[in-house]
Amino acid sequence: MSIIEKYQQHFLPEYSNYPHGRYFSIFLLRKIESEAIFRTEGSGEPLSREFVHAGTKTDDEIIQRVVISKRKQTAVERRTGRELLRKNELLFTDPKQKANPPSPCALNRNNPCGKCMDCMIYGYAAGGGGAQKSRVITDDAFSLHPAHTIIGTKQFNALFDTGTMRDPESGEPSTSIGTDEYVKPEAIFLDIETIKDVTAAEFQYILGNILRSTRYGAISSRIGKVQNQIVGIALSDCELVSNLEWTQAAYDILRGEADEPDFPLHLETVQQVAAQTLTALSEDVVGSVTLLPQADVEALLAEMKSLYGDETAVTNLLKTATSAYPGN
Ligand SMILES: [Zn+2]
Repeated sequence: MSIIEKYQQHFLPEYSNYPHGRYFSIFLLRKIESEAIFRTEGSGEPLSREFVHAGTKTDDEIIQRVVISKRKQTAVERRTGRELLRKNELLFTDPKQKANPPSPCALNRNNPCGKCMDCMIYGYAAGGGGAQKSRVITDDAFSLHPAHTIIGTKQFNALFDTGTMRDPESGEPSTSIGTDEYVKPEAIFLDIETIKDVTAAEFQYILGNILRSTRYGAISSRIGKVQNQIVGIALSDCELVSNLEWTQAAYDILRGEADEPDFPLHLETVQQVAAQTLTALSEDVVGSVTLLPQADVEALLAEMKSLYGDETAVTNLLKTATSAYPGN
């Protein structure tokens, strides 16, 4: 029996527009693998950061943490999924749009088709009526380490309005210098994606998008490479802990008696601690929570790998899920 079959009762048997209270929480470590700028490169804008408590104790000091906004994370994963839908001709055209010729469903434009997996899972609001709430719930993610530990700065040649390093009039290279902040390689962010009321096929699509996305950050020539590592999956009838709580709990254990944890830390070290804190945190939740055994998480990831290695199987999955939406 596959893992998807094993947990069949927690998936919706078919798409439904009504809330059923069936939540999946995917616990992720996002590990930065190359200098990442979560701002427009060359803009000189600082990285987003927030003052928060270091750990969970009441007398804990306040530190600054780097924040990756929830919008940035899902935008990347949506794009990954949309590539697959486009390849399989499963992005549609809103028949009511006025543009001539009409353009197919696209992110950040006012023409959602309201029929594709992306619209139906991640949500849309159409100008001419029709809307779907996102069934993928995300939150801002906080860096494990304090901002001062994981931020570096470097100089850049300022860009001209044309986005190039050459003066559009004289053709001379730019000589003005600015400073960009970046997140250092091996910085780690703890992040929970909550998925609500999905079918098995929709779940496999969302999980595939997370596992196959590798480039996050500002859209520019140097987008940071990010590795998403899944450390746990929980099934529940309510939302679980926040990203910040989870980050603070892991931070407490990782620093031990020291002022702050070493940097960089081995991904495996963080993985073990992050998984360990999940058990404790999920015991505090008022609701029914099942943490998948680690062996099941690993088996599920192996299933995902073989699924996405089989182009025909992916096409069938996407077609079946898409045709299950009303009106398709
Ligand atoms: Zn669409």
